[in-house]
Amino acid sequence: MKDAAFKTGRAWIEVDMGNLRHNAETLKKAMQPGCELMAVVKAQAYGHGAVQTASCLNEVGVRAFAVATADEGIALREGGVCGEILILGYTDVGRAAELKEYDLMQTLISLAYAEALNHQGIAVKAHIKIDTGMHRLGIASGELSAVRKLFFMENISICGMFTHLSCADSRHPDDIAFTRGQIDSFYTMTDALRDSGIILPKLHIQSSYGLLNYPDLACDYVRAGIALYGVLSSPDDDTVLQPDLRPVFSLKSRVALIREVAAGGSVGYGRSFTAGRDTRIAVLPIGYGDGFPRNLSDGKGSVLINQYVVPVVGRICMDQLTVDITGAEGVSVGDIATLAGAEGYDALSVSAVADTSGSISNELLCRMGARLPVIAR
Ligand SMILES: *Cc1c(COP(=O)(O)O)cnc(C)c1O
Repeated sequence: MKDAAFKTGRAWIEVDMGNLRHNAETLKKAMQPGCELMAVVKAQAYGHGAVQTASCLNEVGVRAFAVATADEGIALREGGVCGEILILGYTDVGRAAELKEYDLMQTLISLAYAEALNHQGIAVKAHIKIDTGMHRLGIASGELSAVRKLFFMENISICGMFTHLSCADSRHPDDIAFTRGQIDSFYTMTDALRDSGIILPKLHIQSSYGLLNYPDLACDYVRAGIALYGVLSSPDDDTVLQPDLRPVFSLKSRVALIREVAAGGSVGYGRSFTAGRDTRIAVLPIGYGDGFPRNLSDGKGSVLINQYVVPVVGRICMDQLTVDITGAEGVSVGDIATLAGAEGYDALSVSAVADTSGSISNELLCRMGARLPVIAR
């Protein structure tokens, strides 16, 4: 443990860099030969710390990264991250000079956007986004002449072209058929472009579930986010490939106070918990202000302390929560509690905690990046 926050911290995110490196290697092996891993490190690398995560991946040879915003890209460069950085989302064209200065690649989300960016008169690198059915960003796959125009813009150099699958996580036959349709319309577009004399740039389609469910696609990159962090979005997800991915993230806090509440006493806001018997309560200094979901209140959530899985009681507050440790022997002030990512406890895996809170791992992870320090292990 490098960081002083581990010894004195009230709550923190622990990231296992060994598992991160392992996952990067494992995903590379699962990819088709010649395909490169593009590590998606948006939203503080899904709460794992963007610069720290990308720097660690740089050390194991990862040379391509994706972020959501220009500011995230700039933060990586300022943190010394090498390689390509693709901005997947919208950037105001007034920031073209920054794209150039920090050597960031911008996604072209429409023809009008590309024209406006070109009009800035600043040389920028870009990837073209093709809409094949997600209907979010991108030029429709049927609009060949619009896409062709992008290759002749004076100030834009096209380095890649990609699409995004909207239901690659599903094994339902209808969703598989839809996904195959998305893939086909992407390649129909790229074939037509090539036939019209365009030299194709790097092509990419898959994110994590795209790789895990459609591993035969031979692209130039896989844009992997959640799989790189070693978790599935939801605990029951079934995938074609099931590589040995290991969770990187765990959420920890420390017992601040232990108190006895006599039978009949209540705990916390709204008195939603009333002790049916004499009850031992531990107070953990972590709350929804740290991103821990408030809807895990009142027994929905649990935490691991000293090998005991104990329930959250009462309402989760902004900065604290309370757990019932009655019968959990030997718990004392200062003990470490694991709230998510507890190894060996399936109910406390990131995906299970996310699922219990009515969400997916992706959201749970990235909402915790704001106030908690990230400690590398
Ligand atoms: C976030 C994102 C990804 C990564 O998705 P995961 O499911 O986490 O692997 C890939 N591509 C695009 C366009 C994204 O927005």
